[in-house]
Amino acid sequence: MAAAVRVLFDEGAIARRVSALAAEIAADHGGRPPVIVGIRNGAVPFMMDLLRAFPVSWNSDLVFDFLDATSYAGSCSTGDIRLAGDLVVSVEGREVLVVDGIVDTGRTMAAVLNHLGDSKPSRVRVCTLLDKPSRRRVAVPIVYRGFEVEDLFVVGYGMDLDQRYRGLPYIGVVEESA
Ligand code: 5GP
Ligand code: MG
Repeated sequence: MAAAVRVLFDEGAIARRVSALAAEIAADHGGRPPVIVGIRNGAVPFMMDLLRAFPVSWNSDLVFDFLDATSYAGSCSTGDIRLAGDLVVSVEGREVLVVDGIVDTGRTMAAVLNHLGDSKPSRVRVCTLLDKPSRRRVAVPIVYRGFEVEDLFVVGYGMDLDQRYRGLPYIGVVEESA
C-alpha cells in the first residue's frame, strides 16, 4: 500500500491567493502593520509567504511572533487544546492579526483569541488560509480566508499527518493506493 497525495491547491493557486490576502490586509490596516501572531507549527509556511507579500513600506515596522497550539493527534482532533509559549512582543493597544493554516472545529482559534484578550490588544482579526466551516463547533470571526474546504483531512504547506507532509509546497489529501 503506497500513499499518494491528491492535490487540492497547487503552488500557483496558493501564491495567487496569498498575494490577494496580503493586499486586502494591507488595504484594511493603512500605514501601520498589525502585530502578526502565527499559530505554530501549521501556520509557518503560509505566514512567511504572507509576510513577504506585504507592502515594502511595512518592512521596518513589521513585528511578528508565535504561539504554539496543539489539538490533533494523527488526523483526529482531541478537542483538548494545548497552548504554549508566551508572546515576546507586546500587543497592548496594538492591532493584531492571528494567522493559522486552517480553522476546523474553531477550538484552537477560540482558545488563542481568548488568550490574546488578556494582553489587551486594541483589535484582533483572524486570517486563515483554509476554512472548514462544516466542522465548526465554536464560532470564530474569520476576516481573511484563503480557501474554503470540505470535510477532508488536508496536508502540505505546513499541515501535517503525524508530523509528515508539512514540507509539501501544495495542499492535498493523502490517499492510499494499492
Ligand atoms: P480546530 O481547533 O479548529 O479544530 O483545529 C485547528 C488546528 O487543527 C489547525 O491549526 C491544524 O493544526 C489542525 N487541523 C485541523 N484540520 C486539519 C486538517 O485537515 N489537516 C491538518 N493537517 N491539520 C488540521
Ligand atoms: Mg495548528
